[in-house]
Amino acid sequence: MGRNTSVTIVGTRPQFIKIASLNLDEDEVDNFVVHTGQHYDYGLSRQFWKLNKKEPDHVLDCASHDPTIQMKFLLDQIAPILIHRKPDYVIVVGDCNSTLGGALTAELLKIPVIHIESGLRSGDRTMPEERNRLLVDHIAQVNFCIYYEDKLQLLSEKCQSGNRNTHVVGDIMYDSMVSFIDRTVPMLGNYYLATVHREKNANEHIEEILDGLNALGRLVVFPKHPRIKIEKKYENIEFLKPVDYVSMLSLQLGADMIFTDSGGVGREAVWLGKPCVLLRENTEFRNFVESGHVILAGHSKKAITESEFADWPSEPCNHKQDGHAGQRIAEVIYGL
Ligand code: UDP
Repeated sequence: MGRNTSVTIVGTRPQFIKIASLNLDEDEVDNFVVHTGQHYDYGLSRQFWKLNKKEPDHVLDCASHDPTIQMKFLLDQIAPILIHRKPDYVIVVGDCNSTLGGALTAELLKIPVIHIESGLRSGDRTMPEERNRLLVDHIAQVNFCIYYEDKLQLLSEKCQSGNRNTHVVGDIMYDSMVSFIDRTVPMLGNYYLATVHREKNANEHIEEILDGLNALGRLVVFPKHPRIKIEKKYENIEFLKPVDYVSMLSLQLGADMIFTDSGGVGREAVWLGKPCVLLRENTEFRNFVESGHVILAGHSKKAITESEFADWPSEPCNHKQDGHAGQRIAEVIYGL
């Protein structure tokens, strides 16, 4: 049997961070990486490529504010690459439009799809991330889950990957964090850290969120996603350009508390032992709320200013991660 060929399709900041922990052995798989260009500026894209061992093999131009136009770009631009490379399977990660666009193109070309980070559900179908993940979980022939509960979710939804091809492997985001943590320099100071990037928060609630953060009466360091447009001045908020991954981990290590609507930052905050206030009404990581490490505050100024950890667990918690998820994924892929 010859060596398999795969195409990995990514396009956003968290995906660049995650695939840094998916190191497929060249003797086992000929893997080509496609960067869709969904995130295209230096702050969200190029500064994350140095985390990976090689540059992408194909860089596309699929940025768009309109999801239907973006999906058209993705189908139009990914299809010729898959036709040319003829992969045995396509690997997609997470829940963004590039994940869905990559999976859909492969499905239409009858190429099996492997999905990493499957089965997480917030229950909120108004979020593009929830819809994308759900659709891709159902397209995929092989699903990799973080938790056993996520596998049960996929089985209850009768996903075609079934019991045999749904694997519980852990969280590759944790792998990435532990492999870069040694390079961090914890920031000194007395500050909170905040990030916001989800569609509704960025477009509809940003002023209320910033008013709430400003009213906390402490310095809030805020690496600003390009989606966020700021109209007012906030005396307690220091806006930064998006920072590189190691600087972001350093900022998290130095912060007293973290406010975020990010799936990745929310997890890292808990793993690094920081109280985390989630600027959302719901989460895919209910275990973090149940263990007392995260509180859900939504976007209201009142909820943000009144957020308090009544019973902060004394121990940091990694929710059973061991830093070897990428290795487990690779081993399953070699056996395909
Ligand atoms: N991150 C970063 N620099 C920043 C903001 C975030 O490196 O200025 C990292 C963060 O540490 C985490 C990931 O980006 O690893 C989260 O990405 P994002 O919030 O864009 O997406 P999500 O995790 O919600 O899918």
